Amino acid sequence: MDTRKKVEILAEAAKYDVSCSSSGSSRANQKGGIGNAAPSGICHSWSSDGRCISLLKLLFSNDCIYDCAYCINRASNHKPRASFTAEEVAKLTINFYKRNYIEGLFLSSAVFLNPDYTMEQLVKTLKILRNSYQFNGYIHVKAIPGADYRLIRQAGELADRMSINIELPSRDSLKSLAPQKKATDILQPMEQIGTDLVEYKEDKKKFKSTPDFVPAGHTTQLIVGASPEKDFQILKLSEGLYNRFNLKRVYYSAFMPVTPDKRLPAVSGPPLLREHRLYQADWLLRFYNFGADEILGPDRPDFNLDFDPKLDWALNNLDKFPVEVNQAGYWQLLRVPGIGPTSARRIISARKEARLSPDNLKKLGPVLKRAKYFILCDGKYLAGIPFDPDLIKSRVARDQKGKNQQLSLFAETNLDKEQVIG
Ligand code: SF4
Repeated sequence: MDTRKKVEILAEAAKYDVSCSSSGSSRANQKGGIGNAAPSGICHSWSSDGRCISLLKLLFSNDCIYDCAYCINRASNHKPRASFTAEEVAKLTINFYKRNYIEGLFLSSAVFLNPDYTMEQLVKTLKILRNSYQFNGYIHVKAIPGADYRLIRQAGELADRMSINIELPSRDSLKSLAPQKKATDILQPMEQIGTDLVEYKEDKKKFKSTPDFVPAGHTTQLIVGASPEKDFQILKLSEGLYNRFNLKRVYYSAFMPVTPDKRLPAVSGPPLLREHRLYQADWLLRFYNFGADEILGPDRPDFNLDFDPKLDWALNNLDKFPVEVNQAGYWQLLRVPGIGPTSARRIISARKEARLSPDNLKKLGPVLKRAKYFILCDGKYLAGIPFDPDLIKSRVARDQKGKNQQLSLFAETNLDKEQVIG
């Protein structure tokens, strides 16, 4: 099989990993025009310094020995199979790089022959790129569950970012939908990478010459909706992963039925709003100092699809409001719907100069349409209604109507920067 055909098959097979989203398109240059659209598997991701970069996104092989119920590449699925050689992937990456199509590589693989063999091939590819081609661009590589940790460690020394996908949020679901995968084969290397990363960062502070080890951190992906776990269970799992394994990101992927299996739920489409709520709550865990137990709980195990998790929390905790913006601390301000990190910092800095009036506050960037129900400014309640929990809930519900729909490209909107989560 020629390399072009392999790229077609293996870039297509890689697109279900959401650590970066595919944006490949096929369009040849025309007379008088500039540039081609690369035909396969180019996606975007973020480097450790926050730059958006384009990556060649490939599977090394889609010839899997495992049979995970939800996966397009499962062994029992009848579809074209292909595998690269390490030399082919390295050459392809360099050729794409030299043509300025990409700035890096995102390399994953199905379990081809066995986990160690697959991981060896990924390491070999990275060695050719780094040592033979002196490629210094960004590389995100998958660690294969069940592979010897020494191989995973070698990949981590060559890559910028590494991930091991948990996919299913509980041992029971793993047993039923991906019976050949063991939870320990996923969690042990993840824990070891987390430990090695902490060590690497400490050493790097002391010795500049410390060899790199996944400097852009490690991540994982969870599938949402293929198995019966509640949102609370998924969020608790993410919280544990951040706290215990030093994870950089958890990605959530709404379940898409790509292959029929009686163990999978019958769904009309991927649960995209649920996925969105998980990303919003995940953001609250990482940047707003919330705990999973504050956002959801055993008595409220699923997200309210009408309100974002921060607004929902505020409406369920109205006894903690209204807060006076001239006195509240940074973390308290961050809990006010409509106030995000930027406006919280601005408020704290501006009030050192003078007591804030409602007019001053407007200029500092909070989304007052939301925040007004939860704050006092210079002793004034700005909502224009009495501070009455039932009234506030009904006004907020009225304000939110239609907000959870996808905006038309041409719809008029005055979306503020902090409106999305603030
Ligand atoms: S091991 Fe990975 S590629 Fe193979 S069937 Fe399972 S999810 Fe798919």
